[in-house]
Amino acid sequence: MRHENRFLDISPLIVGFTRQMAYGLILVLFMCFRPQGLLGEFGRKKLRKGDDTGTVDTEDGSSRRVNIKEVETVLGTSRAKESADTGPLLELQNVSRSFGGIHAVSDCTLSLKRGAITGLIGPNGAGKTTLLKSIFGLLRPWEGRILYQGRDIAGRRTEVNVREGLSYMPQGQGLFPDLSVTDNLDLGDYALGKTASGVSMDQVLDLFPILGSRKHQKAGTLSGGEQRMLSLGIALKQSPKLLLLDEPSIGLAPIIVQNVMETIRQVNHRLKTGIVIVEQNIEATSRIVDRIFIIKVGKIVFSGGADIASDKQRLWDLF
Ligand code: ATP
Repeated sequence: MRHENRFLDISPLIVGFTRQMAYGLILVLFMCFRPQGLLGEFGRKKLRKGDDTGTVDTEDGSSRRVNIKEVETVLGTSRAKESADTGPLLELQNVSRSFGGIHAVSDCTLSLKRGAITGLIGPNGAGKTTLLKSIFGLLRPWEGRILYQGRDIAGRRTEVNVREGLSYMPQGQGLFPDLSVTDNLDLGDYALGKTASGVSMDQVLDLFPILGSRKHQKAGTLSGGEQRMLSLGIALKQSPKLLLLDEPSIGLAPIIVQNVMETIRQVNHRLKTGIVIVEQNIEATSRIVDRIFIIKVGKIVFSGGADIASDKQRLWDLF
């Protein structure tokens, strides 16, 4: 009996504690899945373009008429649209990212011109992949801003980034070895959504003629160089404005590296695609880039134009 009383005494405490835990959990989930808050997305969806006013849902569940200019100023869309056409394609402002106690990327600031090939070179463990993954949304930077066409995309979901024109070719192959060449290329479209279509299959095969004669071959049976071309083709099918390439030359024989680099230059030239190329291969990269950044122990230690890029001795000294 005494036992039963004690249970009755503490049960309100347990209920209260559980309720507080549930509230806390809901709040954390909300912050994870809707960091933009309630107003951001709903507000944008309901605005009627061509009209000076629109309707937004407020946090208390009611609707409110607002002036579009006012909302655009608050959300930053107006400024973003302006600089989308004129400003740099991508700007990194003081971006930092750590893993435990390791500062993989520290206070990195750089700016990319539209339609240019930008090289980001550095030794093993310099932070190149971390920076690229942060741009593409695979990692969220701890600090700093990543402005793509004038809008901060730090931590934005990768599928949104793909739809907005970012494509990423990971280190290694980034393809499905058991699928045919054409099936792999079709997957590039899939990433854009069912109805959207990027660069056509013919355009890709035109850029990579070797893939044309291997259409039905399984990707896993292609040579290393052919697989790298296919990975590039998959990324291109998404019709990117900015293509992020993580060490495209890795593991390839020098002659094949030259082919891959030449193809990257052709992609940039013919499709006007902006390209960031992360590399350790100074020789090969410096031949095709318009601008080069050197990153060491997570910090950008040098940046220069095409003239510097062709001064290989200087680059080696800085490397
Ligand atoms: P590489 O040329 O060898 O691929 P990198 O310049 O791309 O190197 P990163 O892969 O960005 O370098 O790694 C930078 C540092 O961050 C390294 O010290 C690495 O060990 C560390 N690092 C990267 N990712 C993680 C992770 N998920 N967890 C812990 N540490 C990580």
